[in-house]
Amino acid sequence: MEVDLVESVKDAGVVGAGGAGFPTHVKLSAEVDTYIANGSECEPLLHVDQHLMTSFPEKVVIGLQLGMEATGAKRGIIGIKRKYSAAINALQKVIKKDNRLEIAPLEDFYPAGDEFVLIYEILEKQVPEGGLPLDIGVVVNNIGTLINIADAYEGKPVTSRYVTVAGAVNNPLTRDFPIGTSINKALQAAGGASVSQFKVIMGGPIMGELISNLETPITKTTSGIFVLPESHYLVRLKGERTSTKVVVTKAACIRCQLCTEVCPRFLLGHTLYPDKIMRAIAWGAKEDPAYLTSAFLCVFCGACTFYGCPMGLDPCEINREVRDHLVTEGLKNPHKRKDFEIHKEREYRKLPMKRVVSRLDLTDYEHQAPITFDSINVEQVKIPLKQHIGAPSIPVVKVGQRISKGDLIGKIPEGSLGATIHASISGIVSQIKDEIVIDTEKK
Ligand code: SF4
Ligand code: SF4
Repeated sequence: MEVDLVESVKDAGVVGAGGAGFPTHVKLSAEVDTYIANGSECEPLLHVDQHLMTSFPEKVVIGLQLGMEATGAKRGIIGIKRKYSAAINALQKVIKKDNRLEIAPLEDFYPAGDEFVLIYEILEKQVPEGGLPLDIGVVVNNIGTLINIADAYEGKPVTSRYVTVAGAVNNPLTRDFPIGTSINKALQAAGGASVSQFKVIMGGPIMGELISNLETPITKTTSGIFVLPESHYLVRLKGERTSTKVVVTKAACIRCQLCTEVCPRFLLGHTLYPDKIMRAIAWGAKEDPAYLTSAFLCVFCGACTFYGCPMGLDPCEINREVRDHLVTEGLKNPHKRKDFEIHKEREYRKLPMKRVVSRLDLTDYEHQAPITFDSINVEQVKIPLKQHIGAPSIPVVKVGQRISKGDLIGKIPEGSLGATIHASISGIVSQIKDEIVIDTEKK
């Protein structure tokens, strides 16, 4: 029987594993010319994608080929940092059997994995302001997503994901965790924190979120768990309240424009000027409203905050605040230009990853976080109903119900954008609220 890939991917609950969790079956329903595998591993000190490409090159390529078939893409490109030589070698052996596929080596800069940046680096094509890669006939998928597509084709739902646990931990590692595993359990797997007073960032050190509750579960989009001493600069900046950031902006912004000079979207030619947004916040200056609405074009990569600003301000967070406020006011993004020039100094303004790591005071944590395939015993998982863009899943199980790993536990609401969810361990459903809690059965 012929397998309908889009339906299989929908049934398996595949979502973008490297971003906000956009449901993958929707992307696969498009028609495009080019399919790009994003193997750039954007954030510093995360190692998931390079390990996946080295360990499972066949699956990555099968996922890419399936995606190409579904979308009609004639060309498949794996964008991967030149420095990941083991992964490149592994992939090259597999792709040589298919002359539609190629590898595009990338330089090691931040944020090479931003989809718009990646597409420009590989194809020298520009995605319109406020647009999508689909607008220029391109689909981009993360490496983990491609593996999940390959698994979905074989009828396997998404029940786990590879995560790098790194930073101030005793044994940094990259391994597969059942979806819903707590951060606490992941830290134990990495030998625990190596400092007594620590904080945890979920995701990468730059774009990740400071987490206060160690029972927070790993989701389909968690790529990293990063531990830092409580006194670290990143912890302080991420932990500051936005209202405090606004007050500090008023006192400290020196209008140097360095935040704008390093902004990857500004450098691609988009109408995004974080310094002017900061100026409007700081002085209430009668700015052209277009400067404020340009916050709609921000991808929240943090380059302006964590690399650009010499005053320790947070233009990235201020942009988010401005964008959210505009949305609350009912405004939509008015910036839709299709033809614009790349900034002439873009090439020289890319941020070398080594310098980013050093600027962020992360050099001490440049460990390899090797991949491990040991089994792990997780006795409880908390699987959020919403791990993706769109509506939360609707539970299809009841408290007290006995379920097996892989069983469907949440479906997509009728007529909505969303993703299914599945049991990541076998056990009994013990609670259903915003998450479905499953406990293993005590023998
Ligand atoms: S976070 Fe800053 S650097 Fe990144 S896109 Fe937004 S304004 Fe530009
Ligand atoms: S880099 Fe910092 S100080 Fe300079 S304009 Fe931007 S926010 Fe202000």
